[in-house]
Amino acid sequence: MSLDRELAAALAERRAQSRYRQRRVLGSAQGVSVIADGTPLVNFCSNDYLGLANNDHALAAMRRASETFGCGGGASHLVCGHSSEHHALEEELADFTGRDRALLFSTGYMANLGVIQALADRSSVVYEDKLNHASLLDGALLSRAKLQRYRHLGLDQLRQQLSTDSSSRKLIVSDGIFSMDGDAAPLSELAEVAEQHRAWLMVDDAHGFGCIGATGGGLAEMCGMTQDNLPILVGTLGKAFGSFGAFVAGSETLIESLIQFSRTYIYTTSIPPAVAAVSRANLQIIRTESWRREKLMSLVAYFRRACEAENIPIMLSSSPIQPVLIGEEKTALALSEYLREEGFWVGAIRPPTVPEGTSRLRITLCAEHSEAQVEQLVSALAIGWRKLGSIARDGSN
Ligand SMILES: *Cc1c(COP(=O)(O)O)cnc(C)c1O
Repeated sequence: MSLDRELAAALAERRAQSRYRQRRVLGSAQGVSVIADGTPLVNFCSNDYLGLANNDHALAAMRRASETFGCGGGASHLVCGHSSEHHALEEELADFTGRDRALLFSTGYMANLGVIQALADRSSVVYEDKLNHASLLDGALLSRAKLQRYRHLGLDQLRQQLSTDSSSRKLIVSDGIFSMDGDAAPLSELAEVAEQHRAWLMVDDAHGFGCIGATGGGLAEMCGMTQDNLPILVGTLGKAFGSFGAFVAGSETLIESLIQFSRTYIYTTSIPPAVAAVSRANLQIIRTESWRREKLMSLVAYFRRACEAENIPIMLSSSPIQPVLIGEEKTALALSEYLREEGFWVGAIRPPTVPEGTSRLRITLCAEHSEAQVEQLVSALAIGWRKLGSIARDGSN
């Protein structure tokens, strides 16, 4: 069979399962009001939770830095691509997270691949929550360690798996705020389990940083986790930070080990210095403008109350990720399409991103949304859910 014929069969199957994914072309800056495929929409699917992806302060920083440093990073950090903007950002992130040091990676995906690959090998066991982000699961596969997955938030199962493990190196890995569910990992309990079984704990709080914790330090700050009980902390800069890139924070020895052994750190070009400058500017905003988190959390509460009043099946989450559990791929897609016709952009998340039968609308809130916009979304959602959801509930589709 030719390449195209063989691939076309898999594509046709995806389509038949209502799992086909499509891109919309954005014709405006990121924000709550966008133009997608030429149509104005109120955006409820971005990870720009604090509304920082297009702010004047960061734009000015980007301009200033690009006048000094130009456009491209030029080389990897270890060759000649490590600028003073990168360096200052690392120092500021270390201070922000209360860790000895922080190390910049080009993306969160690469940070997770590179950290697990550097810390685990064939003789190690990596324990992961079943709902961890794909990059964490892929990191374990790349490391060639034995991968043990435990039920979502399933501490008992994790304890049980660990109790029969005699390997010398054990790594427990979890999302902080889970990306498709919005719920939180029990960090203190995970740290206790790790200590009891002499395992290392790694948490990727891509969605918690900026949004929660008194100064935006994420779930780790909220749970009071220190470098001692949470030694490997990962964050991304493309979400609430409104920028691009990622970081790992931890001890001096951890960071030096990653610089020496982490392949996705060593063998890639540094992000443009002006992008690091954007992260620095937005980190300042995150640390000082707590009103953005307060506004976001009040919108979350407002959204949940409105959904409960309309019997919309929201999932248990107190983060800005507010998924509505639909079930069938087809229904989730139809609802997302209906909302788009009503002027709202909400993504339908389907397998394999989420488990079979748990297709959902992943609604995300942003500090820049107004209560009126949230109210309008919920009204449209209530009408759509009554229309399309009832078909799914009756099983007559
Ligand atoms: C988005 C995400 C990543 C990937 O980060 P990028 O910087 O976008 O590559 C990693 N982990 C989690 C939990 C995420 O949600």
